Amino acid sequence: MSLIQHLINGELVNDSGRSADVYNPSTGQVIHQVPLASRETIQQAIDSAKAAFPAWRNTPPAKRAQVMFRFKQLLEQNEARISQLISEEHGKTLEDAAGELKRGIENVEYACSAPEILKGEYSRNVGPNIDAWSDFQPLGVVAGITPFNFPAMVPLWMYPLAIVCGNCFILKPSERDPSSTLLIAQLLQEAGLPKGVLSVVHGDKGAVDALIEAPEVKALSFVGSTPIAEYIYSEATKRGKRVQALGGAKNHAVLMPDADLDNAVSALMGAAYGSCGERCMAISVAVCVGDQVADALIAKLVPQVKALKIGAGTSCGLDMGPLVTGQARDKVSGYIEDGVAAGAELVVDGRGLSIAGHEEGFFLGGSLFDRVTPEMRIYKEEIFGPVLCVVRVNSLEAAMQLINDHEYGNGTCIFTRDGEAARLFCDEIEVGMVGVNVPLPVPVAYHSFGGWKRSLFGDLHAYGPDGVRFYTRRKAITQRWPQRASHEASQFAFPSL
Ligand code: NAD
Repeated sequence: MSLIQHLINGELVNDSGRSADVYNPSTGQVIHQVPLASRETIQQAIDSAKAAFPAWRNTPPAKRAQVMFRFKQLLEQNEARISQLISEEHGKTLEDAAGELKRGIENVEYACSAPEILKGEYSRNVGPNIDAWSDFQPLGVVAGITPFNFPAMVPLWMYPLAIVCGNCFILKPSERDPSSTLLIAQLLQEAGLPKGVLSVVHGDKGAVDALIEAPEVKALSFVGSTPIAEYIYSEATKRGKRVQALGGAKNHAVLMPDADLDNAVSALMGAAYGSCGERCMAISVAVCVGDQVADALIAKLVPQVKALKIGAGTSCGLDMGPLVTGQARDKVSGYIEDGVAAGAELVVDGRGLSIAGHEEGFFLGGSLFDRVTPEMRIYKEEIFGPVLCVVRVNSLEAAMQLINDHEYGNGTCIFTRDGEAARLFCDEIEVGMVGVNVPLPVPVAYHSFGGWKRSLFGDLHAYGPDGVRFYTRRKAITQRWPQRASHEASQFAFPSL
């Protein structure tokens, strides 16, 4: 068992303070210890970022982008190693881990366009001999706090863009699966990033609070559960920081009577049970318009949910691995019990699954509930496990009302062949990311990612154009060069054309 290190000022650093266990969820065994940074360790990272900032902000954007080009190459060369680490600590399958890494690399590719995205805006002759432009300048030291469920992709939503914008970044990854995140940061160092521009400090609430309280940290990006997102948003904005805090979700898929049901079922299987449902964009509710659709959906889903191939994430050809911890598995089992007690119809029960050779692993099979109603806890709360709830309604309007009344608004989708219904859905639904016959509408890197309602606290979404705005501040410059030998009289009225 090894002790994972921090990466501070370009060096791997030991920490002799508090630590936490990191599990291999497929075996249920502790495989590493992760340090939980003290305030002093966080301050070291902040000091190194502060020291690196003046030179980095003055490095031409094209040079910053060159580091990202090399980083992308290194990530691609190390795909197998990174996927293995993700799978070992998170439990997701190797293919799924490679998929999240590819989506992360998209953000590095976007960051490679730094000279283009930082060009600014220019207007000539806004007045006599006057030109004006907007410059997008870095904030300084910024920090990111990330969840366990995408240890590669979510950090890559943040720091490549923050760094090419000229900032120095401190990352506090999830303490549950930190190894792949650390390796990826080391690869960026190897790509030629100057020391101190990126640091990785492991930790828990203590480390996060130290980042919130540090006056040197100008902005915080957070991705994780809603209670923590709300806490970080309120505490950090109180201290004058810029914050984007992305929270939890309950994503609904609406099935219209005219939907291509076989394709919708394939899409739902992956979106509900892929990564054991531990995705913030996972579909956890299927809203069927009409009993006929619901009966047909259940009939098609039941055999497929029962046939899910489940095993150690690092084995090949699987649909699902284990949940991340024993605690996560027990929490999901508790929700299943609660759903049964509340009167929902449990048509497939995934509890009690044992995988030969991995009896201590944190496994749970896929579960499927029918006749779920809006007042049930399994409907209202984020389960974050392999559980799909079917809700029956009579019309598209009722389906939309249900979604709009839910506290979360991260992702949603509609399965239909009716363009009019799809258009109404896109126009009126109170959700930040919408799919039409696309179950996981995670925006590509050159758009931005973010939910509505209690799925996001803050004004700007993550990555893409919103990410550039988040990690820069606008400076508007107005410049006049009077013609020689001209004299302009004082003007006491407010300047205008
Ligand atoms: P989490 O909120 O438990 O942890 C997220 C981060 O916050 C971790 O780095 C953790 O160390 C830190 N943290 C935990 N407790 C804290 C506390 N009391 N004070 C300060 N910091 C604390 O989330 P998780 O379990 O790692 O991830 C799953 C959650 O993340 C789900 O709710 C999921 O929907 C959400 N998520 C959202 C998105 C999105 O884009 N909206 C993406 C991925 C995951």
